[in-house]
Amino acid sequence: MSEANIQECDDCVAPAEAFSVVASETRLAILEALWEADDRPVRFSELRRTVGMRDSAQFNYHLDKLTPHFIHQEDEDGYDLRHAGKKVVRAVLAGEFNETPTVEPFEVQGSCADCGGDLFATYADEMLSIECVDCGSLHGHYSFPPGGLADRTREEVARAFDQRVRHLHCLAADGVCPECGGPMSTRIRRDDASPLDLDVYVDHTCGRCDHHLFSSVGLSLLDQSDVVTAHRAHGVDLNSRPYWTLQWCVSDDHTEVLSADPWRVRVTIPLSAVAESDPDDGAGYPSVLGGDDHPPGTIHVTVDGDLQVTDIAVEDD
Ligand SMILES: [Zn+2]
Ligand SMILES: [Zn+2]
Repeated sequence: MSEANIQECDDCVAPAEAFSVVASETRLAILEALWEADDRPVRFSELRRTVGMRDSAQFNYHLDKLTPHFIHQEDEDGYDLRHAGKKVVRAVLAGEFNETPTVEPFEVQGSCADCGGDLFATYADEMLSIECVDCGSLHGHYSFPPGGLADRTREEVARAFDQRVRHLHCLAADGVCPECGGPMSTRIRRDDASPLDLDVYVDHTCGRCDHHLFSSVGLSLLDQSDVVTAHRAHGVDLNSRPYWTLQWCVSDDHTEVLSADPWRVRVTIPLSAVAESDPDDGAGYPSVLGGDDHPPGTIHVTVDGDLQVTDIAVEDD
């Protein structure tokens, strides 16, 4: 086994074969029946009854095709899903193959960091965008599975999107591709290739599937412990409001390049701007504490090219 590749695979299934195996209504019905079963493993006869196929030989033929990659047989007890089988069912539930919902643009909390205009969420091609109606500035443009739209109000969709974006970026910054699990590298860039109207931005790139995740430098600081602590000391819970209401997370006006080789970038975070606005607009976000007990201040955070914090200073105004 080479150092560069730890994968050894004698019984891997070729992609075309894997897709052809599940490209059958009956086999999808088998996977769904197993998924929905209260108890697994499920016996042959019970499974056949649930799927509604009379011909036992034919049913057996389909089961054989799904074994061993998507389901496995546990001796006399019956059949259970394997991880690949669960993934197929989840992809169907997420609507990745079968849903192309249309969503009318809807207003979300906050205002444009560039011009102060109203912000709307738009949905197209499984991507949700947070966009200014006045100047068109994008405050986010990230994947959101169609399944995430089901059973949620608009406010709940906005909130789920906020949480999802935060988690995608945490994973990417930790070197794991949220799409394929491959290794992700992180770099700061200064050009106009980002879809987010940023001059200085972070580009997480997967070495395996070439998935890119772009953000402001500020967004990468949202879960940085010193930044979280400094906000909390000023009465601000960073998790209690959508990231796009925090200007330093969506605009690079708060970002200053101190050096490009090696990278040293400073993000200046005004605490007062956060505490002054009213976050409780009925969207289910608790109020941010503020007021006289928590004087406004400024956080200066400097990061290197790997987004590691090299310096942080909190200044009370
Ligand atoms: Zn705007
Ligand atoms: Zn990937």
